[in-house]
Amino acid sequence: MRQTYLTSSEQDTVDLACRLGSELRPGAWVLLRGDLGAGKTAFIRGIARARGIDPEAVTSPTFVLIQEYRGDVTLLHIDLYRLESRAAIDDLGLDELAAAEGTIVAIEWAERLPTPVEGAITVTIEDAGGDTRRITIDAP
Ligand code: ADP
Ligand code: MG
Repeated sequence: MRQTYLTSSEQDTVDLACRLGSELRPGAWVLLRGDLGAGKTAFIRGIARARGIDPEAVTSPTFVLIQEYRGDVTLLHIDLYRLESRAAIDDLGLDELAAAEGTIVAIEWAERLPTPVEGAITVTIEDAGGDTRRITIDAP
């Protein structure tokens, strides 16, 4: 199923993501696509809020590839922006990380994943001018 939304501010995007985030089951994967500054990190902040995690904890530090936050589930926040090679992405061992029970995985720059993730939700964020973002959510 595909749903498309327009948001007009960062807060709007966080609120939309919070609504999705509250519906996610443990084991869900959320693959975020979109350019630098699109709002991928903002979207993950909304998922965090829905799961009882301090949204302020969700940042995009320069050198950290995987961040783990604890709420009613464990949220793994992965940013593939700096990972060029397939080998480097394979080395993250995403499958093992996510196999832990009660984990939701959210990945920025998911375009870079070498293989598709079956059953994943894809969130595509496009700049629609000014502070407007077109957010397309594809769920299996
Ligand atoms: P990304 O992780 O995709 O690089 P961020 O979430 O870090 O992007 O940053 C998005 C930037 O765009 C922030 O500076 C935010 O304030 C701004 N912004 C403006 N309008 C929106 C919107 N509608 N949704 C999300 N972010 C927005
Ligand atoms: Mg980001």
